[in-house]
Amino acid sequence: MPLDTYQRPLRDLRISVTDRCNFRCTYCMPLDEYDWLGKQEILTFEEIVRLATIFVQLGVEKIRLTGGEPLVRKELEKLVSQLSPLPGLKELCLTTNGSLLAEKASALSAAGLRRVSVSLDTLNPEKFRAMTQRGNLDKVLEGLFAAKHYKLQPIKINAVIERGVNDDDILDLVDFSRKNGFGIRFIEYMDVGNSNGWLSEKVVSKAEILSRITSHYGLRETGRQSGSAPSVDYQIIDGAGDIGVIASVTEPFCSSCTRARLTADGKFVTCLFSAGGHGLSDEQVRDVISAVWRAKTDR
Ligand code: SAM
Ligand code: SF4
Repeated sequence: MPLDTYQRPLRDLRISVTDRCNFRCTYCMPLDEYDWLGKQEILTFEEIVRLATIFVQLGVEKIRLTGGEPLVRKELEKLVSQLSPLPGLKELCLTTNGSLLAEKASALSAAGLRRVSVSLDTLNPEKFRAMTQRGNLDKVLEGLFAAKHYKLQPIKINAVIERGVNDDDILDLVDFSRKNGFGIRFIEYMDVGNSNGWLSEKVVSKAEILSRITSHYGLRETGRQSGSAPSVDYQIIDGAGDIGVIASVTEPFCSSCTRARLTADGKFVTCLFSAGGHGLSDEQVRDVISAVWRAKTDR
């Protein structure tokens, strides 16, 4: 297994199956149109499975399918059914905005998907519409409950908190998650370099998120699920409630990072791995991945 320059193994792989999305969350994809990848530039399912197989052989234990919005990629369940049986893969999960989950949950579950994370930043329908620019809250809630019905569990809700926008929704989101048996992860608002109008004043820090919750509930810190998990987790002291905070801005966790990303057009990020290794044998691809990971210096 390759270790990077800080002796970190490569354990988690995020695979973007598309760069497109049916939402336009103001903090992520604020503009109407982008310079989308052409169909022939996107990795085919065969290419993704080939690369994923090699990554798993190199020690990757967890694959998360993401995007853009992964469920806008046609027949994603076919990819799931090819990835889920990979020997050595311990976890296959999906991060989605939930809008198409009600129609897809049954097929995804049958294909071997085990878990989903659903992004949901507010339970107020008008605010939800304003934040996503295109989304319908009812569809997302329907998707969440379909995921529960098909046991795509544990289900986690991801909520990005932006000051002046949805910082007053934190307790509602905690109560909703507790009541329905969902975990919730609050994410500090990040500057993702896409003209999302990021200002440091809009970041609601982990400390502030926690203090809003502890004004109502006692919390006990349970730490990071694994040494390298991005979220610091908490349990509500007097009952159910699985809460976490991803403090990418105020407490960056890069030093323990074991994650890499495969972009929709086959680039291996944290570094460059362009065009999905066209014309290379599996062994050569394995060498490229190992070399890139070994040279990783990001702290
Ligand atoms: N479309 C899917 C979704 O929304 O879950 C998957 C892709 S989305 C880019 C993955 C996660 O990144 C979501 O939970 C989203 O809320 C988060 N995200 C996007 N922009 C962000 C930002 N500026 N700061 C913090 N988190 C962000
Ligand atoms: Fe789409 Fe997810 Fe970005 Fe929202 S956060 S615009 S749903 S990719």
